[in-house]
Amino acid sequence: MKIAILRERLAGELRVAATPETVGKYVGLGADVMVEAGAGAGSRIPDAQYAEAGAAIAATAEAAVKGANIVLVVRRPEAGLLKGVAKSALVIGALDPYGNEADIAALAKAGVSAVAMEFMPRITRAQVMDVLSSQANLAGYQAVIEAAAAFDRALPMMMTAAGTVRPAKAFVMGAGVAGLQAIATARRLGAVVSATDVRAAAGEQVESLGAKFIMTDALKDASGEGGYARELTAEEQSAQAELVASHIAKQDIVVTTALIPGRPAPKLVTKAMVDSMAPGSVIVDLAAERGGNVELTQSGKTIAHNGVTIIGLTNFASRIPTTASQLYARNLLAFVETLVDKATRAVAVNWDDDLTKAAVLTRDGKVVHPAFATAVS
Ligand code: NAD
Repeated sequence: MKIAILRERLAGELRVAATPETVGKYVGLGADVMVEAGAGAGSRIPDAQYAEAGAAIAATAEAAVKGANIVLVVRRPEAGLLKGVAKSALVIGALDPYGNEADIAALAKAGVSAVAMEFMPRITRAQVMDVLSSQANLAGYQAVIEAAAAFDRALPMMMTAAGTVRPAKAFVMGAGVAGLQAIATARRLGAVVSATDVRAAAGEQVESLGAKFIMTDALKDASGEGGYARELTAEEQSAQAELVASHIAKQDIVVTTALIPGRPAPKLVTKAMVDSMAPGSVIVDLAAERGGNVELTQSGKTIAHNGVTIIGLTNFASRIPTTASQLYARNLLAFVETLVDKATRAVAVNWDDDLTKAAVLTRDGKVVHPAFATAVS
């Protein structure tokens, strides 16, 4: 069994799909591990550390993937990078297939079995493989760190000999994994925190972190499938806008994290709401990559609007790359362990397993995932 780890190609992607810790575990499973030179540089892992853990270092991607049965990545690789892999090799990463159907079809054509880690079912057994949670948790933390750095005042209340400083007010919209960590981080920094979500169940979690839950009776519980939110109706949207409009005007920091699976991010903060905020306030739009929760967000950029800073940077997990790689690599290891026959020390995939059924996009030259099979046929 041969496992290859590729250097990431996407600009600004500093994470890596394996660490010396997980490489050591793969070697223990019986794998020959090939790491492309420089793969860990963005996460401050020199090639020598991979070599110490038992990997061979390949000068090029082509040399790394030659004969590989498993290729580990963070981002979806171009099919051209995978020339020379073993027949039916598994390519495992956060492949982000929505809107990228042509790339997925190209992976099918390349003959690989592409596995989208973000499609792992959110069941107990797969929690350890949950890349969405491990990365969203860090993104929520980092969002508040960036907000605090851009904010030109202190967050905690300070009672000093020179007088008292009032605490900052932070408002988190969307209390899923990222939002809950943003709440916890803002609280740790001493802000007075409130939060909203459209799933009623989020209220208890918000309050357990010591934040105030902002909700209205006019907004029905919008829990959808699998614990995710559904899209709001037009009436619900206006009830929500009315609820948050007056609240936002009083906030110093707003972190938005609202997402709906497979849909563009809901627009929650209008230009008028931004106009109502005091100069010096900061908004971090964690949904920027998916269209943004804030009307004025420019994806990938930080802008100023009437003195309000709007941070629309993408890939927040990659802004804390060493920790993000550590957790992501462990998520991948946990999944790969389920693919290896301990006795023969070879890859033996159970295609009927709930995990593979949910996450495998392509197989035997075809796009097989039900969400994409028809889109590309
Ligand atoms: P997500 O990233 O899809 O969305 C982020 C949050 O935005 C969600 O809480 C969602 O309800 C909220 N949202 C959507 N539309 C909104 C709107 N118009 N206004 C305000 N908020 C809005 O969600 P997530 O972080 O992946 O978490 C979704 C759920 O899955 C949560 O209940 C979470 O606790 C649960 N979860 C379960 C597991 C597991 O069982 N293994 C793992 C992770 C998360």
